[in-house]
Amino acid sequence: MKNVNDFERVTLGFFPTPLESLPRLSETLGVNVKIKRDDYSGFGGGGNKVRKLEYLMAEACREGVKVVITTGGHQSNHARMVAAAARKFGMKPVLVLRGDEPQTYQGNLLLDKLFGAELQFLDPEGYFTQIEGAMQAHADAAAARGEKPMIIPLGGATALGALGYVRAVEEMDAQLRAAGEPAPDVIVAPTGSGGTLAGLYVGARRYWPKTQIIGVSVSAKADWFQTRISAMADDCARLLDWDQSWQPQDIWIEDGFVGSAYGVPSDGGIEAIYQVAQQEGVLLDPVYTGKAMHGLIALAETGRIAPGSSVIFMHCGGSPALYPFAQKLLEH
Ligand SMILES: *Cc1c(COP(=O)(O)O)cnc(C)c1O
Repeated sequence: MKNVNDFERVTLGFFPTPLESLPRLSETLGVNVKIKRDDYSGFGGGGNKVRKLEYLMAEACREGVKVVITTGGHQSNHARMVAAAARKFGMKPVLVLRGDEPQTYQGNLLLDKLFGAELQFLDPEGYFTQIEGAMQAHADAAAARGEKPMIIPLGGATALGALGYVRAVEEMDAQLRAAGEPAPDVIVAPTGSGGTLAGLYVGARRYWPKTQIIGVSVSAKADWFQTRISAMADDCARLLDWDQSWQPQDIWIEDGFVGSAYGVPSDGGIEAIYQVAQQEGVLLDPVYTGKAMHGLIALAETGRIAPGSSVIFMHCGGSPALYPFAQKLLEH
């Protein structure tokens, strides 16, 4: 069986990220909440994609890639971090974003501009049928110019990228051991493309086999994620030469906290942002981590996370997306 260190990796982030207690939130909820500060991963504005990109960009460097192409929504943290990572290695970023051409460039869109990414906007209606072709067209154009292209899928959600979150479990395990504390009962993480959750499932089976992992969907229904994430976890274990598999029903997804749609702030998510900001001085975001924290709060309040449990909340970043939603946040 291989180890996460057997795979080539570039250094992008600052690890280990802090693992902190949230004492006032814990007291309110009656569960013992810690937060893993992957919003402090440091590179290109930070967030969870940094761990995945350490592996994915190592492949791009090894293969002499000149143009990196990826996709996401308007406020995609992933697209912004790919743009930063491409620039760090002298490559050109191309981002095909779901949405109409914006009137103002705020939040991640502003950062995409600062990184000099080439931007293409795809009509949200036709996005899912057109995205593969649109990214391939950029790849073909780059190849025709003699520049080697690489396409990174939505969210960097591949088995190789998921190794970043196997590594994150290993890192948290070392942090808890150093503090003389046991493995947590529960991990809660926002789930958008599923790569983070797949890596957490593989890592937890290895280091923390009794820990339950709950993905709070910010977009799709539970069954879509369960199929996708169990397959990605299988592939990730296979990369590690580890004979393990997951069934869709092994993956715990909560899909009741999306609100009206992906990328649209929900009332519960906004409330969670205010609560955590004012109880703990921690900034969440309206697209991912606010909705995931809404899930954690509701699961604790209804007892689905049992009273007294130890919980780690994965802070996956995203605070640039606070600013384009300023008005909505203030109206609340
Ligand atoms: C991408 C992202 C997620 C979701 O992670 P996936 O691996 O795509 O499921 C969660 N939170 C933030 C802030 C993100 O940028």
